Amino acid sequence: METQDCGLLIVGAGHAGSELAVAARQGGWESRIVLLGDEGGVPYQRPPLSKAYLLGKSDATALALRPAAAYEAAQVELLQGARMVSIDRMAHAVTLADGTVLRYAKLALCTGGRPRPLVCEGIDRQNPPANLFHLRTMADADGIRASLGPGARLVVVGGGYVGLEVAASARRLGADVTVIEAQPRVLARVAGPEVSRFYESVHREAGVEIMTGVGIDCVECEGGRIVTVLCSDGQRVPADLVVAGIGMLPNIEVASEAGLAGDSGISVDDLARTADPDIVAAGDCALQRHALYDRELRLESVPNALEQARAAASWLCGKPKPNHSVPWFWSDQYDVKLQMAGLSQGYDQCVLRGDPLTRSFCAFYLRGTRLLAVDAVNRPADFMLARRALAQAVAVDADRLAEATVPLKELLLGTSGAATGNS
Ligand SMILES: Cc1cc2nc3c(=O)[nH]c(=O)nc-3n(C[C@H](O)[C@H](O)[C@H](O)COP(=O)(O)OP(=O)(O)OC[C@H]3O[C@@H](n4cnc5c(N)ncnc54)[C@H](O)[C@@H]3O)c2cc1C
Repeated sequence: METQDCGLLIVGAGHAGSELAVAARQGGWESRIVLLGDEGGVPYQRPPLSKAYLLGKSDATALALRPAAAYEAAQVELLQGARMVSIDRMAHAVTLADGTVLRYAKLALCTGGRPRPLVCEGIDRQNPPANLFHLRTMADADGIRASLGPGARLVVVGGGYVGLEVAASARRLGADVTVIEAQPRVLARVAGPEVSRFYESVHREAGVEIMTGVGIDCVECEGGRIVTVLCSDGQRVPADLVVAGIGMLPNIEVASEAGLAGDSGISVDDLARTADPDIVAAGDCALQRHALYDRELRLESVPNALEQARAAASWLCGKPKPNHSVPWFWSDQYDVKLQMAGLSQGYDQCVLRGDPLTRSFCAFYLRGTRLLAVDAVNRPADFMLARRALAQAVAVDADRLAEATVPLKELLLGTSGAATGNS
């Protein structure tokens, strides 16, 4: 079997891998850079898969993270359609599914994740129903898009971001949409009750049926397709297609076999370094100890993938710039842009600034006087201010935060004068 020497071998050609490859070259990495991925084509963005791409408003070309020419210009060799199956850390070598061995000086693991599969009675994992979809890849989105249209009955299992975005796009395409969420409210894992209520009302106004506190008992199939979803409360929901948005599993099995990952991710520090001095990891597969929160977090977001990739590249190039960024994320549903920063876990007070009925407000999460997180709905300027404040771990006066007349800039950053935008 073929053996090749790669200087820097990056496994996983998604957001993190693509960024790391180009940043390493720009940072001065001199030898070969190989970007290996098990999908085809040029590395692409995932967020539009549930938004513009699903709506047919953008195409595969627009999804590209960067054009093919950018990899050529950076002398990054794209090796697509190739899957890493093992890592031999002693030999500094990776084996691919076809037996090819790639040797590395440094290895970057950017293997992302895959959707958590919907498991219930009626679903044969070996031969799943033809109209059951999960959403991670362009091919998944193409499959969903082909089945959507006016009057199509879509059942979305899971009221998290991906599920709600799919619901919003499908509604816009004229589908009849039902969202089934096992928790008592949508977005229960990531947002406070006020924000969940807001999203439930936005979707209901758009004609989406939202069922909360309801699990899936089983599905009934005919001709290899799901025709009915049977819920834990006894309801039967007819379906032309089912999209499961019930979370993600990190792709860490190969790293785990090589002794680099625990159950929940590949542990890295703020320079994306793993326990092996010649291996870094970044993106959805990486579990980083965040100084700001004093705990290990595996974040599933584009900004996190990019920041960790840049930190890894900086270290590989001998110019270390640790990643201490405040976690943030966004979600687009209908005309509502949600931007979130920080982590709200452990908050004891949620302060609303603005009225959810106007579809423009912020939810600030505090513990005592410390600002932990913000959810900004159609308020990009407030979001930017809050993000800066979160990085500085400021103390905030909760009572004044709710007063729209008090400039946010003054409250969050101690700067007087009119704040920008919506403040
Ligand atoms: C539908 C959808 C909508 C989203 N919307 C948003 C959003 O609005 N905002 C936001 O911030 N984030 C969003 N996300 C999350 C975001 O896309 C991820 O956090 C981001 O893609 C993580 O980048 P990554 O490089 O770590 O992983 P990925 O982009 O998943 O890339 C990993 C790559 O590695 C490949 N790979 C895995 N194992 C191997 C192997 N053994 N050998 C070779 N290749 C391998 C995978 O196939 C994949 O191509 C969304 C995700 C989805 C699915």
